[in-house]
Amino acid sequence: MGERIAKKVLLIGWDAADWKMINPLLEKGWMPNLQKLMDTGVSGNLATIRPILSPMLWNSIATGKRADKHGICGFMEPNPDGTGVRPVTSTSRKCKAIWDILTQNDMRSNVVGWFASDPAEPIHGAIVSDRYQAMCKVRQDKRETKPGLCHPPELADKLMELLVDPSLIDGHALTPFVPEAARIDQTKDPRLLQLAMLISRMSSVQAAAHYLMYDKPWDFTAIYFDAIDHFGHAFMPYHGQQMEGISDEDALIYKDVMNGVYRFQDLMLEATLQMAGEDTTVIIVSDHGFHNEDRRPSTSGMDNPEGWHSPYGMACISGPGIKQNEKLYGATLLDVTPTILSLLGLPIGADMDGRPWLEIFDKPVHAQRIMSWDAVEGECGMHTEQQREDPVAAAEAIKQLVELGYIEDPGDDAEKAVRSTTRDLKHNLARALDDSKRAHLAIPLWQELAQLADDDEHEGFFNMQLARAHLGQGNFAEFDRVLRESFDEKQLESPVLLALLGDARLAQGKIDQAMAYFEKVQEFDPHSPSLLQRMGEIFCRQKQWDQAEAAFREVLALEGDNAVAYNGLAQVCIARGEHAQAVDYALQAVGLFHQYPNAHRNLGVALAQMGMDDQAIMALQTSHGMEPQHRGAHLWLARLYRREERDTERAAQHEAMAGRVS
Ligand SMILES: [Zn+2]
Repeated sequence: MGERIAKKVLLIGWDAADWKMINPLLEKGWMPNLQKLMDTGVSGNLATIRPILSPMLWNSIATGKRADKHGICGFMEPNPDGTGVRPVTSTSRKCKAIWDILTQNDMRSNVVGWFASDPAEPIHGAIVSDRYQAMCKVRQDKRETKPGLCHPPELADKLMELLVDPSLIDGHALTPFVPEAARIDQTKDPRLLQLAMLISRMSSVQAAAHYLMYDKPWDFTAIYFDAIDHFGHAFMPYHGQQMEGISDEDALIYKDVMNGVYRFQDLMLEATLQMAGEDTTVIIVSDHGFHNEDRRPSTSGMDNPEGWHSPYGMACISGPGIKQNEKLYGATLLDVTPTILSLLGLPIGADMDGRPWLEIFDKPVHAQRIMSWDAVEGECGMHTEQQREDPVAAAEAIKQLVELGYIEDPGDDAEKAVRSTTRDLKHNLARALDDSKRAHLAIPLWQELAQLADDDEHEGFFNMQLARAHLGQGNFAEFDRVLRESFDEKQLESPVLLALLGDARLAQGKIDQAMAYFEKVQEFDPHSPSLLQRMGEIFCRQKQWDQAEAAFREVLALEGDNAVAYNGLAQVCIARGEHAQAVDYALQAVGLFHQYPNAHRNLGVALAQMGMDDQAIMALQTSHGMEPQHRGAHLWLARLYRREERDTERAAQHEAMAGRVS
């Protein structure tokens, strides 16, 4: 074991919390408790992973692994007996969560409300499953505490006592969120009731967590709040500047609700921090951001909910041994579990997809590694292998039995629900694999999905994803074959397919053909950030620096945080000899997205041009570590090691490697 830095770790999840909402509130002094943690700790953006769906993301946060490894691939899953669908369960998780690893190391955990924690695992400590907050419904006479709600099971009675009934959230509690509540005709407008329900959920989670923290000593407590996300889907269309299509009355009544939930969450934080005590290391994270102001995609938070989720969430960490008032750069939500392990002096699993934030500590800390926590035998509190199951496989097996006539058909509706849920889960898994650049594993899934599709539209979409995955593999022949066999000439003139064809030609180095496709796409949508970004990259290749700069600047104006656009500007500046400016842009790019070898390389080149050789070597080595076959990095490293005969041996090594990859 390594050195244990934290006595206790408190992890608080604020689903969808976003600095763009938080910063104005901090400026007004309206989130003083978060402010205090930032002043005494390290904070910054937390990059999400795709697809941006909360159950998948919170399980990545709790495991340090992507969805193909942890197995939670959506909100719903089929009942294993094929009779319908249910919210995703903990028995679908395929690997240990942080609380299982801690159980194995005799550390005590409390876990409250976490996504897919039902049925509660028998860990060392206590779990209140996410079924608990779902019990906050209006007008429920009797609440049944079915098994699995919590661990240990005898906790259930206490939890029922602590549950905050939505009917108890009265006008007094609602007016801070809706000062004009009296204007609302509740027989017509259900939103006040919805607000009461959401407040009762977060209050119940808080009450249960505080009870557990008070009840017994603990090493780790994890509390998950869905409030900011749910509030966002219900009330973000009314926030701040009035959107076109929102009535004056709605804009007036509900304009303060979003600020209200952030302030309420901060108020609750104050109580939780007091409960935790000064010596606790506190980590607050969100799984993604949430579009606000002019990035809002619609006047309804419910149509295409995923479209409201933005790629950067927030992270803040404070506690003994952690630097004060510093920025966190290049962090992803996959890093949370590795960081907690480092805090508690435990090794990281080499099969985890994230990294510990070692740079946050005020003295050097070295992370230990083991191959995999899942290979470590012994009691960990996870469900047994027999209890764990793949619900899709189980439901598919049932379907076969139905077809063979062994068991009765669960009926059309149930079957339809199972089919569409199964398809969603496979679709999400395929997207997760694409996102982690493992398209070869996604290809069979896209093929299967295209075959399973109910209609032409879905089939076309899945075939397009299949083609894209082949492209990701650099298999241009397969890419062309899939497009040719799946789409007719007219379909190939649609903007998405034209853009895809442009991408393929760009990847093949056929710059002029690529540009021709992108120009056609531009006729449909002149201000698409992803298109402008691609055109910027082409302008760079053609050394048309002014056009490149204009394209990247427009992307940033439209989108704000875009690592590719910042890196593009860095490249433009290098070409123009504006090296200090290039360093700034490249730092922005790697700060937003750490796993970006090209941006580290640009950073290195710009630093080298400024004569800052030490820093340049560091940046180029980082880039080289991520992409060992890049000739440019070798050549620059060789040149830098040659300078003033710094290290001729290494210079020679890089020269040799550059020769091999030329
Ligand atoms: Zn979320």
